[in-house]
Amino acid sequence: MTLDAAWARRWAAQAAATVAAAKDDLTELDRQIGDGDHGHNLDRGFRAVVAKLDATPAAADETVGAVLKLVATTLMSTVGGAAGPLYGTAFLRAAKVTDREELDAPAVVALLEAAVEGITARGHATTGEKTMVDAWQPAAEAAAGADGATTLAVLEAAAAAADAGATATIPLVATKGRASYLGERSAGHEDPGARSTALLLAAAVAAAEE
Ligand code: ADP
Ligand code: MG
Ligand code: MG
Repeated sequence: MTLDAAWARRWAAQAAATVAAAKDDLTELDRQIGDGDHGHNLDRGFRAVVAKLDATPAAADETVGAVLKLVATTLMSTVGGAAGPLYGTAFLRAAKVTDREELDAPAVVALLEAAVEGITARGHATTGEKTMVDAWQPAAEAAAGADGATTLAVLEAAAAAADAGATATIPLVATKGRASYLGERSAGHEDPGARSTALLLAAAVAAAEE
């Protein structure tokens, strides 16, 4: 199992398939505490990502970063809303630290930490504000804590932490993004962006296992 550019391409394809399958669920979460478009926004974006990758043949020496940069720019121009620029920045920052043909475990940690930094630089949210940061931040921390593990184990730790982080947004009151308009009424619902983050990281694991 090698985390190379082919893996990054499989990650994007898995993400597209997972988001397509979860589109209505994500949109329903967003209907509860937002404007009911998150699943459709992301589905549109990842469909465009797959089309873009299909139209861009892999160079023999393609880097992981080159693939992630394509993902980033496509998401930025197609997703819209809050999530488009946030995910776009996450993948763009991740691309900058993965300009190599293969990732080892520390590089996976660097990828996740760069993604978190991009999201927080863009959206100014910290953990506990009921946003996608509540999935990305524990994912990066779990990856960093999986010291000496294989790349697959690091990715799995990150995906599990993102999943738990998304679930843990349910009781939170939103203080950033559209859900914050609801104040206390945002409690009792899972944050759609935190859930989609967990799905994206699960897709990274599935792509590594393919
Ligand atoms: P919009 O709210 O513009 O319709 P989406 O529905 O696509 O955008 O995405 C909403 C998600 O974006 C939220 O569930 C949340 O996870 C994330 N989000 C919103 N604002 C922020 C922020 N400032 N920082 C991090 N994530 C945010
Ligand atoms: Mg929305
Ligand atoms: Mg919207």
